[in-house]
Amino acid sequence: MKVLVPVKRVVDHNVKIRVKSDGSGVDVANVKMSMNPFDEISVEEALRLKEAGVASEVIVVSIGPAKVEDVLRTALAMGADRAILVETEDKTEPLAVAKILKGVAEAERPGLIIAGKQAIDDDSNQTGQMLSALLGWPQATFASKLEIAEGAAIVTREVDGGLQVIGVTLPAVVTTDLRLNSPRYASLPNIMKAKKKPLERKTPADFGVDTTPRLKVLKTEEPEVRKAGIKVKSVAELVEKLKTHAGLI
Ligand code: AMP
Repeated sequence: MKVLVPVKRVVDHNVKIRVKSDGSGVDVANVKMSMNPFDEISVEEALRLKEAGVASEVIVVSIGPAKVEDVLRTALAMGADRAILVETEDKTEPLAVAKILKGVAEAERPGLIIAGKQAIDDDSNQTGQMLSALLGWPQATFASKLEIAEGAAIVTREVDGGLQVIGVTLPAVVTTDLRLNSPRYASLPNIMKAKKKPLERKTPADFGVDTTPRLKVLKTEEPEVRKAGIKVKSVAELVEKLKTHAGLI
């Protein structure tokens, strides 16, 4: 079974985001970019399936400008077998990405697609769900545990009320949550080797997809600065503050 893993290049999670002065978006000039953390978890999970003999091949795919090559190379250095770069200069939106991933899935015929639950730049949390609908495949989102057994994926999902276990028949789309695993680091020799591996290059037009943005960003602004908290010495003081200062009880 092939496993397809979409990986997005986003602002590194350690970077303090700066909003552009004209409010048109986030400033990404000279900012460290990395693989979306949820996608690292997806790559790790796919590699573990391969190591367990469940998956035969791990294919990573990224959609974006030529620079997304670096996250594909990171995934190859972690252990992915093949990488596909679908190049576009347009800002990628979940629906266009899902349509392109559908095209890739139809060409590659994976038994499982493992996507991140969300990309930490736009926090859309939409692509996996849209992809499952477009393909007509079952979906299991927010996975914190994944087992493959007899043509099905048994997924433990992180939901508001706690954990939910569901079974979905393969092929399916699974999206990953933080507790699924701790991704491995790529070793230096593997990073060097990954630099020489070939990348398959495609364009959205190869899949008949128009990536012209359909969404309009009206304004981007910094969140309100939070007031500093205070420390209290006792429960009695806490209750008193909640009553008199916060008016909560
Ligand atoms: P989102 O719906 O934008 O929050 O993204 C959810 C997941 O979809 C990400 O974790 C990736 O696995 C995948 N994804 C989103 N955008 C891209 C992209 N441009 N290239 C590859 N994968 C993507």
